[in-house]
Amino acid sequence: MRDPRDPVTRAIVAQLDELARSMGKKICRRCGVAKPFGEFYAQPTTRDRLQSWCKACQKNRTTPRYRLERIRRTRDPESLTPRDRQFLRDAVLARLPAELRAYALTCAGHRELEDPAT
Ligand SMILES: [Zn+2]
Repeated sequence: MRDPRDPVTRAIVAQLDELARSMGKKICRRCGVAKPFGEFYAQPTTRDRLQSWCKACQKNRTTPRYRLERIRRTRDPESLTPRDRQFLRDAVLARLPAELRAYALTCAGHRELEDPAT
């Protein structure tokens, strides 16, 4: 795939966007499919007042699998959000036998007390 910052790529993408728009559609930046405007959530801060990813892509962005992939790519553990930490904790706990879960929760509790980031 070409670098999206490449000027030629940008020009092609701009033309495709314009073509889609003239047909009452918008191209999703994630799946690349041209979809009706109604398939995009509103976002007041963008030029067309719509998000760049379609609703379907936005929805599966929050699935556990997507979240885990994103966390895996994170190089700096400090940049994880509290929700990411909670997710990891739950994922780890879910794999532990019940008798170890209570113990792990206690340990996690103590770690949080020591960790100023949480
Ligand atoms: Zn999409």
